[in-house]
Amino acid sequence: MILAVTNQKGGVGKTTTSINLAAALARKGQRTLLVDLDPQGHSTLSFLDHESIDRSIYDALVEPDVAAAEIIRPTTDEYLHVAPARISLAKLEGKLLGEFDGHYRLRDELKSIVKNYEFIVIDTPPTLGLLTVNALVFATHLLVPIQSSYLSLEGTDDLLETVDRIRKQVNRRLQLLGVLITLHDNRTILGRDVVAQVREVFGEKVFQTIISKSVRLEESPAYKESIFTHAPRSSGAKQYAELGNEVMQRA
Ligand code: ADP
Ligand code: MG
Repeated sequence: MILAVTNQKGGVGKTTTSINLAAALARKGQRTLLVDLDPQGHSTLSFLDHESIDRSIYDALVEPDVAAAEIIRPTTDEYLHVAPARISLAKLEGKLLGEFDGHYRLRDELKSIVKNYEFIVIDTPPTLGLLTVNALVFATHLLVPIQSSYLSLEGTDDLLETVDRIRKQVNRRLQLLGVLITLHDNRTILGRDVVAQVREVFGEKVFQTIISKSVRLEESPAYKESIFTHAPRSSGAKQYAELGNEVMQRA
């Protein structure tokens, strides 16, 4: 399964979900590749040191002589690999503008390594630009994190329209795997209202697992860890492990 974690809104938990879902799947013995497609590189930096990254996904996408396999890096979990991003990725849009295969670069570059993994998890930037389109062209499935807050559903129409267009034009196999409620605070009436509202709009597509607001989840990247090593007993670890199970069941 090639899973794009996408929502064009920032701050909804895409990166946190990409990191911890990839780690959860790897811990269940699934060979997993985390592809960082956000120029901010936060997924990358949760597992690798900045200084240790010489070549990144940008090089694989633009340099004809850099193969994807050359930029993929191991982590302390033998089942988890990372295709790192650096700020250079911000140049990609300009670089591929007007190239006839601009939307297909990720798919074409990673095609040869798909067979090495049960799961490829792609963290995407908070736009519907070329990077996100590359992710959606390559993906088999889409996971949409939605922040449990006021106006959380605003913008999901645009996303679903883009997905529809991509499905019709270039990637018929693309499916919505699920909608994940994140940053949830069950103590507030608003929080509970949002859950009801999201369930009303997306029905069965909403994952049973809900990710609560948690300081442990917020701080774990700073320690270069997933939630499973940073705070293995925390609610965040339990919830992302459950999400891993749900994703495997839906696969
Ligand atoms: P996105 O990638 O969609 O922009 P992030 O995953 O970077 O979103 O999350 C935005 C901010 O919220 C980050 O500072 C992150 O650490 C924090 N965050 C994400 N999920 C949680 C959570 N469940 N509990 C607390 N903080 C969270
Ligand atoms: Mg992010």
